[in-house]
Amino acid sequence: MERDARAAILRAGGMSGQRALVVKLRGQRLVHAWHAAQAPWEERLLRFGGAAAGRILAARCSEDAVVLAAGDAVARGLPGAERTSFLWRDPATGRPQQAQGGGLFARRFARHHDALAIEGRLDQPSVLVLDGGVDALPTPPGFAAWSVSARAQWIVDELGGDGWTTGPAADAGLHFATLMSLREPRGSVGRGGLGAALARANVAAIVARDAPIEPLVDERFRDWIAACRASPRLAARALGGTFEAADAAQARGELPLDEARALLALVDEARAARHGCAGCPTPCGLVFDRPHARQGGRYGAVHLLASRLVLDAEVDGLDALRACDELGLDAKEAALRLEARLAEAPVERSARASWIARELAAWIEHPRRAGGPLERVVERLAGGSLATRLALRVSTRGSDPMRVQPFLADLASEGRVAELLAPLELPAGALDPRDPRGKGRIVWWCENLALALDATGACAFSAAGLLADGIVDLDDLARMVAPRAALGAAPGRGLLALGGALAAMARLAARGPRSRAEDAPEERVMLEEYRRLRGEGLDWLDPEWGLEMAWRRQAEHDEVESGGVAPRLVDVPRPTHGVVRVRALGASFAGLDGTSWNFGEGDTAQALIEHLAGSSPALKTQLESASLWSGGRRVPPGEALRHGANYDLVLALSGG
Ligand code: SF4
Repeated sequence: MERDARAAILRAGGMSGQRALVVKLRGQRLVHAWHAAQAPWEERLLRFGGAAAGRILAARCSEDAVVLAAGDAVARGLPGAERTSFLWRDPATGRPQQAQGGGLFARRFARHHDALAIEGRLDQPSVLVLDGGVDALPTPPGFAAWSVSARAQWIVDELGGDGWTTGPAADAGLHFATLMSLREPRGSVGRGGLGAALARANVAAIVARDAPIEPLVDERFRDWIAACRASPRLAARALGGTFEAADAAQARGELPLDEARALLALVDEARAARHGCAGCPTPCGLVFDRPHARQGGRYGAVHLLASRLVLDAEVDGLDALRACDELGLDAKEAALRLEARLAEAPVERSARASWIARELAAWIEHPRRAGGPLERVVERLAGGSLATRLALRVSTRGSDPMRVQPFLADLASEGRVAELLAPLELPAGALDPRDPRGKGRIVWWCENLALALDATGACAFSAAGLLADGIVDLDDLARMVAPRAALGAAPGRGLLALGGALAAMARLAARGPRSRAEDAPEERVMLEEYRRLRGEGLDWLDPEWGLEMAWRRQAEHDEVESGGVAPRLVDVPRPTHGVVRVRALGASFAGLDGTSWNFGEGDTAQALIEHLAGSSPALKTQLESASLWSGGRRVPPGEALRHGANYDLVLALSGG
């Protein structure tokens, strides 16, 4: 397409979300076509922009298409909003996938696009260059053998800009190949074959050279910053750099105390200054100054590598992560596969670090050695929380877990969860991680919200923190992150409804047999509730109507099942005197770790929090947001204290 014609369309489309482009790769020729809505509901999703527009392109393009999208919050430069959504099908399984990649690429991409679909194939490996238009630059000879660092260096030297590159794993045809960011500290995106899907199209990398959009500093921008600064959970994440999640996992009984302490100790080895997404007031990225690189590292991958492979030290998990990054491999899936290899042919613990590097290199040489597609990867990554397991099982994102795991189940207070879920009721047992009751509605709600947030490009972790802490309600959040005209007079509902429509569309694309494991008795309760809320019809074509219908179906079911929702049961043992000990592994409450309290008759969990706030007034706000756990169970505020018990103070976000 002529540049002038494109520019005219851009002017006409402006920021209204009508900027969805399809690029067909034909040999070394690129054919561009702007997508126009074919139905009113389609028009609405295109106008919302970001992954909502991307979902339309994914539905209208061929199955091999890879779609990129950046939402309204990215296009406005909302602080921290620099996420690109990727939608594609896993070449190995044919399942639809969706993932979010962070980095400045999104703000460059958003200058000209809401969504871009790439379909077809180039006749030689090339870098796709977004620079006003879209062009292809062939890679130099030998590129396929280069590490991710070498590829990134060449691309940045040649082209500048920001973007994503495949690694040798994608060229070798490994179906758990991802994309790696060009800039350090490197991030990855695309569990479920994104790297392999692009390599199949002979796209070795994607670079945006357009100047990043300038942030629109308006009321919403300022409100977002003020809200983030007021959130104790976001402050805890900024201190812990996602490793504070080890604290929560320990409290839930999923992680031994010594492992949690060792993981938290890694935070001290990272640079004091955090890095983060552009403009984020609570940056949460750790940077480790390793001998060979300035390396990022997040709790999920480092912990999984260190624990599954039983490495000598958590820091060895960072080295294993680096080895995966250099090949462009999904580190979590690599950990599961390496674990399986170790079971077949044990390796001395002291020799494992070097064995990992050799084994990964062997996979590039002989891809079959890595094995075929793994079944139920994300479910094997879940801990003991039933809500998380359900979320991973039903997630419409394929192999990439929900961006924000169901934070309502794990971390928000009972009152907050009840407020956010309304008009649905909160049944008894809903906040017990091992009780299936209420998990279907919690996961349904969180999935709707996560899909809608991702369509805006705003940080879902920040949004979860703001909601869990009660800093904003759903309407406030929607006003800050979503396109102004997209949600009407009740923006919070509109956001949930839009997420529901996106989930329905993703589900339509994901045809396939029902898994036998879904019939496991302990999960049936959750699945039935989740499916009841999702529904089967075409209600989602009018998202608000679809939301109303989902609420009604569940409310009617609750009524029939229990003659109204069962009263919340709080087990209140006989009050007594005694001593309790406080455990606080994360940095937020470091001074309180190991303290004890002689409590009196009738003292409850809430009284313990008040006592701690009285003795440490500077921590009052954080303590009010924290949850209390004991014996792997969340302790309700009204429950009497038990003599001799340890109480874990947890202030964390799920995911990361
Ligand atoms: S909280 Fe972390 S992930 Fe979210 S915007 Fe800030 S730096 Fe980025």
